[in-house]
Amino acid sequence: MLNLRPNLRPNSLPTHALSLLASATLLASLPAQAMHHESGESMSPEEHAAMMKDGMKSGMDHDMHEMHKKMHGDKDHAAMEAHMKDMKGNMDHAKGMKGSMKTGMKADSAMIANLTDEQIKAMNVAQLSDKSKAAPHYMIGDWAVFSLTDGSNQFGLELFPEADKSELQKLPPEGQDTAPGSVNGFLLDTGLHQILFDTGYGSCGSDSTGNLPQALMDSGYAPEDIDMIMITHAHADHVCGLITDEGEPLYPKATVYLTEPEYDFWVKHPLKGLSANKKEGLSGFQKFAEKSLMPYALDNRLEGFKPGREFLPGITALKAAGHTPGHSAYEIQNGNDSAIVIGDVVHAEAIQLPLPKTTIAYDVTPEEAMATRLELFGKVAGDDTVLLTAHFPAPGVGLLKKSGEGFMFETVPAVSVPMK
Ligand SMILES: [Zn+2]
Repeated sequence: MLNLRPNLRPNSLPTHALSLLASATLLASLPAQAMHHESGESMSPEEHAAMMKDGMKSGMDHDMHEMHKKMHGDKDHAAMEAHMKDMKGNMDHAKGMKGSMKTGMKADSAMIANLTDEQIKAMNVAQLSDKSKAAPHYMIGDWAVFSLTDGSNQFGLELFPEADKSELQKLPPEGQDTAPGSVNGFLLDTGLHQILFDTGYGSCGSDSTGNLPQALMDSGYAPEDIDMIMITHAHADHVCGLITDEGEPLYPKATVYLTEPEYDFWVKHPLKGLSANKKEGLSGFQKFAEKSLMPYALDNRLEGFKPGREFLPGITALKAAGHTPGHSAYEIQNGNDSAIVIGDVVHAEAIQLPLPKTTIAYDVTPEEAMATRLELFGKVAGDDTVLLTAHFPAPGVGLLKKSGEGFMFETVPAVSVPMK
């Protein structure tokens, strides 16, 4: 959170008026960190990283440092590890927020001490610019959601090795041997927070991906408007978009959240418990995950959390493991509406809806992934919960219905208002 401070100068007001206050209250809600100078002044990310490295050299956790050096030959990695440990001990952002206010802001924040409940309630409403209003979006109560398409993504039938071949052949659109799909991230504007769910491929994908930042801007937002990034899991198509081509954080003010089991699996104890064969298969993914998360950890802007946690009133992480060990979905509730960012609970609409037990080769624990999918489908099929899908054809927003032995997806129409 350190580099939030310089951004609080009046001459760098975010385009969304309320996000200034939101950033400030988010900042205020975090307990003081060891990384702050005694004087209370914040350090630059470089100073911070250098200090953590120095700390490690002389610090208590020498053995762990040595172990990581052996494993990775990478000093930054040890610094990141030290940092994550520190966060687990010191920071539970949600604890401070929960039991405080209806908005997720900390009660004792000087910034909001004088606001009435009515004023806070009025701020907890998406304040859309004309450009945002004109862009396709969906309303969840007073909050707005934008589907940000990173690019297209075809699912070849070979990705479903367990499925009955003859069944499979009948499913994709006529004459094709792939099922259509895309890579979708989502932006939620609550008025108080601008929250990104997953970040797309960045520069880790192909020519047809990496478009999420452009989609964000087309929706009337800029990377500096985002204050929270919720990661469903650390696969490349969800985390590589966190960083620029040069490996720097693309989102200068955002704190990135992912589950502790997810962080542990990809970064702390990479691929622990897998066979040598599986480890080799996932080593590319592991490198992408580490490369994408590390710049935020070194910048003190990565937070691990326990699966199933409520983040803010109306935004709750749902346990959804199987595709990866710490995979998380996110439920969004406001007014009478609700939606779930389902991540990779399901991939290919054309295959896994009619045959929901079909697992994809990317599932780390296929049985668990299938159970998670069936449980979630069972919970939402036929009700009004809008699913925000990572891989159904763009925009990937709709309702799940029962259909024969399986399910079908009914797209929900977006809202948009012509620009004045
Ligand atoms: Zn994915």
